[in-house]
Amino acid sequence: MTLEKEKSKLILHTCCAICAAGLIESLKERFLITLFFYNPNITSQEEYNKRKEAAIILAKHYQLDFVEGEYKPESWLTLVVGLENEPEGGKRCLVCFKDRLLKTAQFAKNSQVDNFTTTLLASHLKNKQVIAEIGQKIAQKNDLNFLASFGGQLRAKEITQELGLYCQKYCGCRYSFRG
Ligand code: SF4
Repeated sequence: MTLEKEKSKLILHTCCAICAAGLIESLKERFLITLFFYNPNITSQEEYNKRKEAAIILAKHYQLDFVEGEYKPESWLTLVVGLENEPEGGKRCLVCFKDRLLKTAQFAKNSQVDNFTTTLLASHLKNKQVIAEIGQKIAQKNDLNFLASFGGQLRAKEITQELGLYCQKYCGCRYSFRG
């Protein structure tokens, strides 16, 4: 087991607690993790608050630092103008991934942390290869390391149930809401 003082720091962009729940136990063996909650794509404030609260519960449970990024859904909506009717997984999502990974990399840089990654890679609904490519490009430009793969999703369901974490029903933006 790696000693705490020997561990590298990692900024873990956290899209939601459910995706983070299965990753933290294996990642914290190697890294000192900060959860970075930057998700202006969640256009409903009520929904945003529920997901943020769940991420805070998870951070407290594992005694991790939690940092909330800027929440300006109106600015995010301007990024995806013209892409409103794209299907989930299409061009709008590329813009969305890029925005969240870029802000995470900037946060890592400002915090003098060399490593970053995202829980988006844990979602079985997302294209992992596309996300990994975006993350690696951003990392290269910013002289950072992007962690593109982790161990398995250990105990995600168990932890979610144990902590009573909120489970969202849709991806996040108003265009992905199916009622
Ligand atoms: S569907 Fe999800 S990933 Fe795609 S733009 Fe909306 S919030 Fe972002």
